[in-house]
Amino acid sequence: MNARRRILYVEDDITSRMLVSQVLYTAGYDVIEAEDGMAGIRMAQEVRPDLILMDINMPGLDGYAAATKIKGLPGLAGTPIIAMTANVVEGDRERALTAGCDGYLPKPIDVDALPEQINEFLGGRRERVDKEAERSYLREHSQRLVDRLEEKVAALTRSDEMKSRFIAIAAHELRTPVTVIRGYLDILLDATGPISEVSPDTKVQLEGIYHGVSRLYEIVEDMLDVTRIEAKTLDLRIAPVRLDQAAAKAVALHRENAQRRNLTLTLEPMGHLPTIWGDGGRIQQALGHLIGNAVKFTPDGGSITVSGRVVSQEQLDTTAPNPPLDDHFVEVIVADTGIGIDPSEQGRIFEQFYEVQDPSLHSTSKTEFMGGGAGLGLAITRGVAEAHGGWVWVESDGYDPDRFPGSRFHVVLPVGAPPG
Ligand code: ADP
Repeated sequence: MNARRRILYVEDDITSRMLVSQVLYTAGYDVIEAEDGMAGIRMAQEVRPDLILMDINMPGLDGYAAATKIKGLPGLAGTPIIAMTANVVEGDRERALTAGCDGYLPKPIDVDALPEQINEFLGGRRERVDKEAERSYLREHSQRLVDRLEEKVAALTRSDEMKSRFIAIAAHELRTPVTVIRGYLDILLDATGPISEVSPDTKVQLEGIYHGVSRLYEIVEDMLDVTRIEAKTLDLRIAPVRLDQAAAKAVALHRENAQRRNLTLTLEPMGHLPTIWGDGGRIQQALGHLIGNAVKFTPDGGSITVSGRVVSQEQLDTTAPNPPLDDHFVEVIVADTGIGIDPSEQGRIFEQFYEVQDPSLHSTSKTEFMGGGAGLGLAITRGVAEAHGGWVWVESDGYDPDRFPGSRFHVVLPVGAPPG
């Protein structure tokens, strides 16, 4: 009669899990086990059980919260959930029923009676709580959920602060030794210095070290910039900026790599753009990251185009994150014929350390197709644009490493006014 009905048993205590599973299995049920509330929710969706046995006192998400969640999932509202608690206190049954459970069994479980009890719930038995009691338990349940949420948010905030502190400390501590090593290598590699007396092999080795240290230096500088952006201490040196010149310098940095990779890197004329007030070095850095990414995520033989235009009112209406200030805006666009970006990722890629592809699959060099990176470039580009009162956004038809739909990154900057 019980022919292999599926029971999901959510329980953190392994001894209870083994005991009850054994009893139910012997009684003819299939038992799927989950060791906590989160796993219980996931398994409920995956296996669509006929009934769920839910322990209430579990670390993390408790049984009340898991039951409430499961009852709200599509297709699971009708699945009976039976709560179980040890150390029974008054109101446990009502609490469980109010949270969404359909029945309640105190622990320790009576193993002889359990199969029959389960059978009754499978047959349609439902326990109820009267309306008046339900109302007060519902308030208690909501309050408990909010308390928990508060604790979690506080814990997350603390761990986010620790992460920021760790990045700041690591970057500061690494910067000094890396700068020292780079300084000595500069002396060693000076054409008229010691390098002129070493063998060609040693020279190649020293250059290799220099290359590695320079990359390390860049990462440390990026980490420091991200720290400053997060702490809102990115100081801008405001002066008139010609975007055509800033873009030309950013392009020049990537010219050699683009050529080596057989990429067509075009800088369209931008002389018509108005001079803006901003930090030319930072703007060049922001554009440099976009061009570097375009090089990285476009296959050999593709093309990258950098162009600029005055932003239209219509575009302001559709892309500005907040109603923009009473200002005029210009934008620089970096377009590529690369792998593109899935719409669902287009917001997250601007977060620090976020990378769409699995970092362990990167090719190791920063400039090769799909080369590695620390996931900081776009966070810096966004931080620089926002520090200017601007923003960045991307358009792409999606990610496709066979058809290469390409991406277009826009850096929008206000024309601004002189400081003071
Ligand atoms: P990094 O390049 O160091 O990984 P970024 O912050 O510069 O970090 O970029 C984050 C992620 O956004 C990249 O790992 C990549 O998945 C995606 N991305 C950035 N630029 C492009 C682009 N031009 N084409 C396709 N994907 C891109």
